[in-house]
Amino acid sequence: MDFLLSEEQKAMQEMAKNFAEKKIAPTMEEDEKEHRFRREIVKEMANLGFFSCLAPEKYGGTETGYLTATVMTEEIARISPSYGLPFNLQMNSIQPVLLNFGTEEQRERWIPKLINADLLGCFAITEPNSGSDVASMKSVAEEKEDGFILNGTKMWISGVPVAELGIVYAYTDRSLKHRGISAFIVDMKAPGVTQKAIETKMGLFCAPTGEIVFDNVKLPKDSLVGQKGDGFKICMFMLDSTRLSCAARAVGVARACKEHSIRYANEREQFGQPIANFQMIQEQIAEMYVEEEAARLLVYRAAWNRDRGQRNTLEISCAKYFAAEVAVRAANTAVKIFGSYGFSSEYPVERFYRDAKSYQIVEGTSNIQKMIIARNVLGLK
Ligand SMILES: Cc1cc2nc3c(=O)[nH]c(=O)nc-3n(C[C@H](O)[C@H](O)[C@H](O)COP(=O)(O)OP(=O)(O)OC[C@H]3O[C@@H](n4cnc5c(N)ncnc54)[C@H](O)[C@@H]3O)c2cc1C
Repeated sequence: MDFLLSEEQKAMQEMAKNFAEKKIAPTMEEDEKEHRFRREIVKEMANLGFFSCLAPEKYGGTETGYLTATVMTEEIARISPSYGLPFNLQMNSIQPVLLNFGTEEQRERWIPKLINADLLGCFAITEPNSGSDVASMKSVAEEKEDGFILNGTKMWISGVPVAELGIVYAYTDRSLKHRGISAFIVDMKAPGVTQKAIETKMGLFCAPTGEIVFDNVKLPKDSLVGQKGDGFKICMFMLDSTRLSCAARAVGVARACKEHSIRYANEREQFGQPIANFQMIQEQIAEMYVEEEAARLLVYRAAWNRDRGQRNTLEISCAKYFAAEVAVRAANTAVKIFGSYGFSSEYPVERFYRDAKSYQIVEGTSNIQKMIIARNVLGLK
């Protein structure tokens, strides 16, 4: 994909590759087994400027853009899908929301701390009974003279229970349906906020995911982002950005599965020859290769256009949907190519298989992406 990347982007890509291989890989397998999250890794990523791509210099950013973020995210996810997530939590969620809808004071106060990873971020939409249907959320922020009182439960939130700052969506006026949802920037250590890890996850063991209970949490007036009732609009805007990051992670996983499969197919011998000689293995590798390339093209193009200021929801949904499906297929094929060893945690492909499944669910399921795509191309609202 050299034709698309500037020299600066190639240098950032190389830096991310080295970081993943030298700083994440050495402890990763053990950390995955222990379900251990290392804050120091996120801090080191921050120190290298990984979370600076979207914000202007005055907030500590570099404005190198979505494409730069995409190539770096791919490199990290290729080694560890778990450590691909901080790109979303530190950068692609809260930062674009504040840059586009926040006040100057909110931007100055929060963005530098997210870029530096002085505060760990999260975004909270999903609830126990509200997933794809965002407007069915139950969380409520009741307006008072000096701010709001937040009550509700959020579920499956990445970064919980270690989150320190969150964008939280809640109703300020239920009678207005989705136009009554508002967005808040919330101190996740405030009294009344309880975070609990979900221990029953299938994968992404180095990336915490959890539940948040908001019990009469006092939010100051200036925690409202945008206007009251802007929450749904802000949420959909944010999801464009987080979906792009998810799609980049999926490309990284597809690439990792292809690389591991190629190596294994050349090493493993059966019937007196490397399994790479068998046409059915060659077909599997060829399909993995083409699908990964196609996914990357979709994702990079979406990032490139986003950098040109386009609101390209359709393009991003296509990229997210396709890359997620490709990652799962690549992981599935890799497990087959590895035979019994694909079924063993001794080799990384079973981990990629488990982690890749998340891409078909998060930031809107594959069905929801297809719904967005179909409605757009059919011209339906
Ligand atoms: C690892 C992980 C991390 C996550 N991180 C976050 C996070 O940081 N913040 C956050 O807010 N959420 C997060 N989520 C939640 C995630 O975004 C939701 O799980 C997702 O939106 C789907 O919601 P649901 O699980 O409630 O499924 P449901 O909405 O209940 O869907 C169930 C099934 O029905 C299908 N379906 C639903 N509606 C339709 C429809 N109209 N047409 C066709 N099919 C439909 C879905 O595709 C799915 O197959 C995370 C989830 C996981 C697994």
